[in-house]
Amino acid sequence: MNCFVFLRFSGPAAALIKVHEDLARCFLGGPEDAGVLQESDEAILGAVTGELQETAGFRVQPRFTRVFRWPSSMAQHNVGHPERVAEIDARTAAIQSLHLSGNAYRGIGIPDCIRMGKPAAAADTNRCRESLTSGSSKDSN
Ligand SMILES: Cc1cc2nc3c(=O)[nH]c(=O)nc-3n(C[C@H](O)[C@H](O)[C@H](O)COP(=O)(O)OP(=O)(O)OC[C@H]3O[C@@H](n4cnc5c(N)ncnc54)[C@H](O)[C@@H]3O)c2cc1C
Repeated sequence: MNCFVFLRFSGPAAALIKVHEDLARCFLGGPEDAGVLQESDEAILGAVTGELQETAGFRVQPRFTRVFRWPSSMAQHNVGHPERVAEIDARTAAIQSLHLSGNAYRGIGIPDCIRMGKPAAAADTNRCRESLTSGSSKDSN
């Protein structure tokens, strides 16, 4: 298991589900362990529950469980990734209208993607503004 995320419900959400309960979201797989996708739900749940017992001291059975399979869905940043990204940047720098952002580059979380996307969107907006301005000044000439 790579990592797990806990959500603790409190406030109105806790009232809806009656008491404070934790939702554990666990991720498995990746290129080092791609075979896990072929395992049965029962085998996956058994492995996850066992690891939660071992690492987090879980002593209760989950109230409900769900298994979702997302093959090849997460970018994998291997050793040498920053150098590869730097080379991509160097090779694409001259193409003004091309902006690369997303989980393949500098961080895989949604906030990372937003952080990368904002300057790209701003650069394109500015370029459009400039071309509109230069177009309208040509028209008035
Ligand atoms: C199961 C799972 C859970 C996750 N949970 C979290 C989380 O809790 N918090 C978090 O921060 N991150 C989470 N992530 C990571 C995060 O969701 C992704 O890293 C992020 O959404 C990637 O954004 P992106 O824009 O790079 O790619 P994507 O969101 O994959 O967007 C790419 C888009 O391009 C489209 N596309 C692909 N090929 C073409 C093509 N040839 N032509 C046109 N369109 C195309 C796709 O349909 C897609 O809409 C999770 C990822 C997974 C897989």
